[in-house]
Amino acid sequence: MSDDRQTDYQYPGSLKLCVAVFYLENYHRGDDQGTIAKANNMLADHNVTLDVWPENGRKLSTNSIAFKKSLVEESDYVPLRKQINEILSKHYHGSVKPLPALYCQFQHSGHGITTYRDQGRVPMVLISQALNNDKVTLLHEMGHAVPKIGKGHEHDDPDPKNRNFMHEAEPRTTIYKWQVEAFGGAWFAVGK
Ligand SMILES: [Zn+2]
Repeated sequence: MSDDRQTDYQYPGSLKLCVAVFYLENYHRGDDQGTIAKANNMLADHNVTLDVWPENGRKLSTNSIAFKKSLVEESDYVPLRKQINEILSKHYHGSVKPLPALYCQFQHSGHGITTYRDQGRVPMVLISQALNNDKVTLLHEMGHAVPKIGKGHEHDDPDPKNRNFMHEAEPRTTIYKWQVEAFGGAWFAVGK
């Protein structure tokens, strides 16, 4: 039997996942509500580092974006991404393009959205003000942004009390070996 679903796998080497956090004006909370710490802790269990710009995701003027509408619609994705790219080109100095995580309120139901590759762009993730109780929202959307993990969910966990982070039902507590390896191939990963 394959060990793809091993839940205590350690990535063999250094692996850093780079995320750039932004806050839209229609997000009425002062911070990420614990989603960054949750992602950080779950990845650290597998020897994976989460590198969050700026200042571990604090809300600063640099990463705050003006927006007058109450909800983000699909037609806003491209102009928002353009603004994000402009901010990053001025202020971000990492060696890879980070995955943008935009904390905002959006039109669709659900706690998070990953905008898939459209118009030649890599995805960004939208994180709602109304979070999942388990706070795995950011990590789950990061998974969707990795091509090898993809759009799908993982609903056949052997242990229903220890669901993996790509499950839709909560709480989610694990990352499988194959998913850790897939993060290693993410376009926002730095490693060896
Ligand atoms: Zn999902």
